[in-house]
Order: sequence, then C-alpha cells, then structure tokens
Amino acid sequence: MRWTERQQTLLQAMGLRLWAPPGALPAPMPDAGATAAVAAATTAAATAAVTAATAATAAAAAPMAAPTPTPAAVAPGTPAPMAVQPAAAAATAATARSPFPTDSLDWPALRAAVAGCRACGLCDSRRQTVFGVGHARAHCMVVGEAPGEQEDAQGEPFVGAAGQLLDRMLAAVGLGRGDGSPAQQVFIANTLKCRPPRNRNPTPEELAACRPFLQRQVALVQPRLILAMGRFAVQSLLDTDAPIGKLRGTVHHWHGVPLVVTYHPAYLLRQPADKAKAWDDLCLAAELMARQDGGPTAGPTAGQTGGQTGGPNGGPNGRQDGG
Ligand code: SF4
Repeated sequence: MRWTERQQTLLQAMGLRLWAPPGALPAPMPDAGATAAVAAATTAAATAAVTAATAATAAAAAPMAAPTPTPAAVAPGTPAPMAVQPAAAAATAATARSPFPTDSLDWPALRAAVAGCRACGLCDSRRQTVFGVGHARAHCMVVGEAPGEQEDAQGEPFVGAAGQLLDRMLAAVGLGRGDGSPAQQVFIANTLKCRPPRNRNPTPEELAACRPFLQRQVALVQPRLILAMGRFAVQSLLDTDAPIGKLRGTVHHWHGVPLVVTYHPAYLLRQPADKAKAWDDLCLAAELMARQDGGPTAGPTAGQTGGQTGGPNGGPNGRQDGG
C-alpha cells in the first residue's frame, strides 16, 4: 500500500516511525484529497501498517507490546462499520446528578461559578480552578480527567508533555485549541476542575459534584463530537467501570452527543505502543465528524492545531490509573 502525506504526518506526530523503500512514499497531496486520505486511513491496510510500526516500536522499547487489534477490511471509499450505542440508553446511563443550578449560566457566569466553587474538598488544595480552553463553539470537544500540577499552576488543561502530545495529535487531524473556524478547533475541558492532591485518583463523589459544570460546558459548546481521554473521564461520562480497552472502537453518546473513547496522552507517553490504538480512535472520530457533515469537512481536513484502563493505568500527570 502507499502512505499519504497526511497519514505520515499523523504517525510522525504520534511518534511512530514508518519505513518504506525508496520511492514508495507518495508525493504531497493537494488539500482536496486530504480528507479522503484520512478516511482511507481506516482501511485494514493502513491499520495493518500502523500495527507493524507499533510492534516495531514496542519491540525496541519494552517487552510489554500488546498486539493491536486489526479491524475488518474496509473497501476504499466505503464507510467503516461502527457499533453505535443507542443514544437514549447512553444518556440514561449518564444521568446527571447535579446539585448546581447551572442550566441557565452563560460562559462568564459559568466560569465565575467554577472559580468560586467549593462543592467538594478539592477546593482546599487547589491553586486555581482549571476551567477549559479553546473555541466556544468548536465542533469537537476534548474531555480529559483532572488537572495535574502544571495545569493547577497555569490554569489551563493539557499543558506540559501530555499537552504537547495532544496538540500534535490534534494538529495531525487538522484541529487546534485556538480561535479559527469551529470546524477546525476544539474546546478542551476536564471532568474535574480542581487538582486532586498529589494527583491521586478522583473519588466518585468529586466527579459527581463537578459533573454539572462539564454538562453546562457541553451544552454551551454544542459539539458534534466528544473525544473522551482517560479512564476517569470515560468512566465518569459513560457511568461505567469498564476499561477503556473494551470501550474504544464504539461510538457512545453523552446527552445525545456522539462520544469516542481513547487513551489519555499522559498514558500514551508511558505506553507508546498504544499510540497506534489512539491513531485508530482519532480516525474514528474524524470519520464520524465527516459523516455528520455529509462529506469531507470536519476532522482531518486542512487545518492546523488535539485512559486507559485496558492496561496498566495511567492518568494525567502521573495519576496511577487514569489512562
Ligand atoms: Fe467545585 Fe469541581 Fe473544584 Fe470540586 S473539583 S471544588 S466540584 S470545581
């Protein structure tokens, strides 16, 4: 098979090296073909190649290499089959337990409510709340877990090495956390707005207490897709204790919004062999957004700048089991 320029870019962004014989790599593609290229990345051939690259990386890095599942073959141009969880059931499972009257808050009021919140004990140890960042009407919303030390210090989610990896991943599919077109930007928020002390795992009570803020953020952004990263984010949103390894590859829903599950960048930094799985998840998200637009628009088009449980846990910023 031949690798497109965008596929190469994504693999490079995620730290996966691709070897190909001289002349095997294609010439740069025009933008008009970019989306088709990423959609084609979901083909079995592409996945098999990524798997091979991952296996090579894993073999060089560590003996833990878990094999990457190989999806069924998909004919070029044919949408990959998706196992879609019924929206109603998912929404019911994620029923809000909101003690806050957040439903009528606009952005400034919501930000102020978060900044002054003392609804759980995390308010005592935080330096500041971490509200979120990105385009207020982004088509894609990234939801992580909880602030770590650097996020607590800077007041922005996904900073540091994990944040840089996230930015590279997002850039590879034409997304960023800035002010461009909403189709090419993301809004990034965490399920918890305050850092747990020493990055400990959040408690169910803390997650429930903070959930209304995220719900309101989703209601204001009105994303077409949620990309949930990390075990606590995923389990909190989907109200499940299933591992990420069993939840990925399926389109879930949260309050009617399609939701794709993937690993947290902090986990991927520790388990680079799983970057290929995250690549598959990004392709699924991009394909879903493109389908919603009725064609090749959202996701891996022209644009620039966005858990784990299945294995050893790895939450953000060194959390032990948040992957
Ligand atoms: Fe409030 Fe959420 Fe911070 Fe707890 S974590 S104090 S609920 S903002």
